[in-house]
Amino acid sequence: MNFRPLNETVHICSESYEDRRQFMQDKPQSDYGQLPVIYFVTPTYPRREQIPELTRLAHTLLHVPRLHWLVADDQEKCNDFMDTLLYRFGMPFTHMVSPMPSKFRNEKPAPRGVANRRAALQWIRQHNFTNGILYFGDDDNTYDLRLFSEIRKTQRVSMFPVGLIADYGVSGPVVRKGKVVAFLDSWVAGRRWPVDMAGFAVNLEYMAQYPYVNMPYKPGYEEDLFLRSIGLQMNLIEPRGNNCTEILVWHTQTKSKKLGMVRLESKYLDDRSNLGALLHNLKLMGVTSTTESEGRNALISKNGREKPHSKILS
Ligand code: UDP
Ligand code: MN
Repeated sequence: MNFRPLNETVHICSESYEDRRQFMQDKPQSDYGQLPVIYFVTPTYPRREQIPELTRLAHTLLHVPRLHWLVADDQEKCNDFMDTLLYRFGMPFTHMVSPMPSKFRNEKPAPRGVANRRAALQWIRQHNFTNGILYFGDDDNTYDLRLFSEIRKTQRVSMFPVGLIADYGVSGPVVRKGKVVAFLDSWVAGRRWPVDMAGFAVNLEYMAQYPYVNMPYKPGYEEDLFLRSIGLQMNLIEPRGNNCTEILVWHTQTKSKKLGMVRLESKYLDDRSNLGALLHNLKLMGVTSTTESEGRNALISKNGREKPHSKILS
């Protein structure tokens, strides 16, 4: 156990505390003013699925009142494209960067999403937020809107099953007479709290009692050691989702593909056609890059026939 307080460098790219949404789930924003804020921590990293994942997740979160979205990107530099995207959604957010330390990059398995979650924890600490709920929500999971009203009730630590985990297709608490008594998960490996990152929420007032809150760079053990670092005891756990009988969050995974590549003469990447701006945008989103020399020439066709680039673009 790592009994040292976190000491991460937190680099903020942009943030907004303003909530420009007028209605959420058919009610005006003012109806929700008294609810505790959910701090929804999303570790994310550059790959071609990043922007689509964040867009999809945002469209879930847009339905959720009183939520501050902490988007922690696993990379060195801020990117303006992401700031613009996050601002446009109109909900409160903080965009930060916190790359995985290079010594872990080539480890197999690597501690995915740890540096960025740690940075988000540090941010919460620095701001002394003791009123609200912490939840770790990866960018590729699927969230039922009922999850948010359930976790908002968290007094100390709440838990609930996560669908689509490993061999059993589920991981979560075993509940008897309204109390958590054990866990169902196909991988125990000595973990006292064998739960998925998406399977629990923590009240910040409770967490504030533990100055040594931590999430170690130990793949597979992040949840267990985090929960140990906040002194979790079995009798403190609040089962949610109708006594852990419902699935409110799914561990969906998106198949990853390598960057797209379009071979096109750079002289045509101007405003004579849409392709200049389109491919520029896709580059900013980390989806596609262009090349002048590698691979086969980009296929541009008309009436079912390939045309020379010069014919269409010059
Ligand atoms: N992640 C990250 N850096 C990485 C790999 C993953 O920040 O190098 C993030 C990712 O965006 C996701 C979380 O960490 O929010 C868990 O990663 P992933 O979904 O790939 O893992 P899995 O769900 O398959 O365990
Ligand atoms: Mn995932």
